[in-house]
Amino acid sequence: MKIRELIKSFEPYRVLEGDYKIWLDKNENPFDLPPEIKEEIFEELRKTPFNRYPHITAMPLRGAIAEFYGLSPENVAVGNGGDELLSYLIRIFEGDYIVTTPPTFGMYYFYAKLNGIPVVEVPLDESFTINGDMIAEKAKRASIVFITSPNNPTGNTQPREEILKVLDTGVTVVLDEAYAEFSGKSCIDLLDEYENLIILRTFSKAFSLAGARVGYLLADKEIINTFYRIKSPFSLNSLTITTAKVMLNHYDIVIERINYIIKERERIYRELKDHAYPSEANFLLMRLDAYEFLLERGIVVRKLGGRLERHIRVTIGKKEENNELIKALKEFLEEEY
Ligand code: PMP
Repeated sequence: MKIRELIKSFEPYRVLEGDYKIWLDKNENPFDLPPEIKEEIFEELRKTPFNRYPHITAMPLRGAIAEFYGLSPENVAVGNGGDELLSYLIRIFEGDYIVTTPPTFGMYYFYAKLNGIPVVEVPLDESFTINGDMIAEKAKRASIVFITSPNNPTGNTQPREEILKVLDTGVTVVLDEAYAEFSGKSCIDLLDEYENLIILRTFSKAFSLAGARVGYLLADKEIINTFYRIKSPFSLNSLTITTAKVMLNHYDIVIERINYIIKERERIYRELKDHAYPSEANFLLMRLDAYEFLLERGIVVRKLGGRLERHIRVTIGKKEENNELIKALKEFLEEEY
């Protein structure tokens, strides 16, 4: 048995596990589904034949998403989480490399490396904004430019004018809008005009369905057709298809929660203004080397590295959790400064 050198250079994806009381590390929604929505899902699942494979392209869910956005099902692809979608997108387009804008989401690098695709980085500026002209310079030989808005882990959205500069080069742009519901901003309206735009979304954040694993792409129908040439046929299971479909009918509660999270985000930001960056997502980036300090108090956040060394990313939780976070961080500040 011989394992490829490339594969040996990977480490399994690790997350902290253990008996901690507050989890603010994975940008999850702090609220599970209300019992009555769960009941509705269980009712639907009772009717679902478990012995059968799911619909091959999850058309019932694609149709529901299309209707939700006023698009055609041909403009929608769904997958087993946004991550799975990225793993396919990265392989579809011709080019010498992908372009990323660090500091940003790590999975673009992961799949590029796994597929032997080089990465060209065009770093965000000091306010974490993309430079459309600089990206455009690299666009000609690129297969894909990844832009994340709101960006993970910095929380800011990217200016539309800068995104347009990149789109105007004709390069394929994957605009990762995993957190867009918390910002109220989107480029979905540009899909009509730009055949090179692919928008990635997920049910994991605003829709409280991180455990169900479902993400989707909105794009030109040629791209969606091409995507389905290579997608593993049954990777989105019947249970998930049903669950996501039911949740789409409960956008009222999703909005309620988005508003709660935004309100809490702004409250935490005000409390720790000198140490936090403004955010339009469901998390805050903080200039505080407080990872260990918080962990000792049972609060798990995300520790960052590289350019964001000594920073943490904190997911917005429930009010009581956020109160504990604020209290602990104020104690940290008193001890440190
Ligand atoms: N894009 C970004 C920027 C993310 O932060 C995440 C989740 N952490 C995803 C995509 C993928 O989410 P999922 O696989 O849960 O749909």
